[in-house]
Amino acid sequence: TPSVLVAGETLVDFLPNRVGPLTEVETFDRRAGGAPANVAVALAQLEETPWFLSNLAADAFGDFLSATLDDYGVPDRFVTRDEDHQTALAFVTHDVDADRSFSFYREDTADLHVDATVVPDETLDEVEWVVVGGVMLAADPARTATFDLVERAREHDCQVVFDPNSRPELWADADTEAEVVSRMLGLADVVKTSAEDFARADYPDDPEAFATALLEAGPHTVLLTLGGAGSAFHAAEDAPWGETAVEHEGYPVDPEDTTGAGDAFLGGALAALCRGDGPEEVLAFANAVAAVTTTDTGAMAALPTREEVEAFQAERE
Ligand code: ATP
Repeated sequence: TPSVLVAGETLVDFLPNRVGPLTEVETFDRRAGGAPANVAVALAQLEETPWFLSNLAADAFGDFLSATLDDYGVPDRFVTRDEDHQTALAFVTHDVDADRSFSFYREDTADLHVDATVVPDETLDEVEWVVVGGVMLAADPARTATFDLVERAREHDCQVVFDPNSRPELWADADTEAEVVSRMLGLADVVKTSAEDFARADYPDDPEAFATALLEAGPHTVLLTLGGAGSAFHAAEDAPWGETAVEHEGYPVDPEDTTGAGDAFLGGALAALCRGDGPEEVLAFANAVAAVTTTDTGAMAALPTREEVEAFQAERE
């Protein structure tokens, strides 16, 4: 049975066929997305198939998302369907400087109406890791459902893993985001993040000081992604692996599309943690999964299998 439960949004990303403002874009590629859905698929690809809690609309886009999750072998036991709400959509804009922004169509959509009570206590007894993300915290009822799930996960001695995945477009204001995110940091054991997630908050720029500040906010472990420079693993004394600060420089590749690299990294890190790897191995494996993912387009389609990651690592060592 799965050791990981991932909870969160599945949505449709529309990727523009050109750089520039949405007013100029006529053609889009339709892709299944949502950071938690990407993480669930990453884990399935890495032979660490998780449970996935997500509410999908009963519309055509929901059918597409459901079929996509099926194709990747993500179990549908906690994937619910909703007749009353539509699928959330995200239109991506690529700026000239390669920055990404999003136009969300996510008012009262199905993903927000997730019902965490469909996950029974027995499942929380069985899983070791419960993974949640910041997009679910931006609005209710998803915010309340996510906090409820996390409280239950803690009662069942699960390790709570949090990816803040900041999307300013989704929040009422920066103060609300800061307050809700710091509440979740207080409940989380492991946080996977990057400086970008906290660009609107008051944290130090230096990665080491940034990680230390996050550890003071609650989690025992902070996984920092550093883009092309790899990643870092910072843990406090009370972490199961003890006090640690290690970095891994990553694997140089020619990136084609970095969409979902952070999600691939988290999937890789969790798969490594599940098999009991130490901090160095966790970073190396997660960096390898993420690096391979950037060499192809699409967040899910580019996710490698365990075999592909091991071959990539063997070749690079
Ligand atoms: P996302 O865009 O998915 O939110 P993120 O900001 O969380 O991503 P990044 O730090 O950009 O994450 O990248 C995540 C991981 O992907 C890095 O830690 C690294 O392992 C890998 N990666 C990203 N860019 C590159 C690159 N140019 N070359 C090699 N590896 C990369």
